[in-house]
Amino acid sequence: MDSNDVESDLKHVLFSKEQIQQRVNELAAEIDADYQGREILLVGVLKGAVMVMADLARALHSHITMDWMAVSSYGSGTQSSGVVRILKDLETDLMGKHVLIAEDIIDSGLTLSWLKANLLSRGPASVEICTLLRKPDAAKVDIDVKYVGFNIPNEFVVGYGLDFAEKYRNLDFIGTLAPHVYE
Ligand code: 5GP
Ligand code: MG
Ligand code: MG
Repeated sequence: MDSNDVESDLKHVLFSKEQIQQRVNELAAEIDADYQGREILLVGVLKGAVMVMADLARALHSHITMDWMAVSSYGSGTQSSGVVRILKDLETDLMGKHVLIAEDIIDSGLTLSWLKANLLSRGPASVEICTLLRKPDAAKVDIDVKYVGFNIPNEFVVGYGLDFAEKYRNLDFIGTLAPHVYE
């Protein structure tokens, strides 16, 4: 590995490519069983959910359509402000649809609890959430997350869609950053 490679900025690997793929496939099987042939509108939250959307969508056997939203809840820091702004809205009318939000990670849960309420106000048949990762603080917010890939400790992670200063999204695994990156 070259010292300029993105991999050299990582401290340790939390979940390998294989572990992620296996868990995403398990979630897809659960979702297929729950929806029983009903069509699902997958809503991906840009940009972090790009990888989980792509893999989940390909693992599902149900009929699906996909749409994307971009919201901002963080400023430049790493703390959720609770103030959510829609940067890009859905193009799909949600009336009567079974909506499944695909997320990379739930930290404070503030973004998603706002988003779920927002989507519910548009008249869908249902709104559920699938997140690959969930941190412990999410328990403080009253939000029902039906599908969770992995519960993780309170550490800042990158890879598989998750960024630090917009980098590391392209890693096919999830890990923590080496201190030299942010110190
Ligand atoms: P929440 O409102 O749940 O605190 O914010 C969730 C969003 O914060 C995620 O979609 C993600 O963009 C960002 N976030 C929270 N924890 C992490 C983390 O450990 N790593 C990265 N890269 N982003 C995180
Ligand atoms: Mg996200
Ligand atoms: Mg980010």
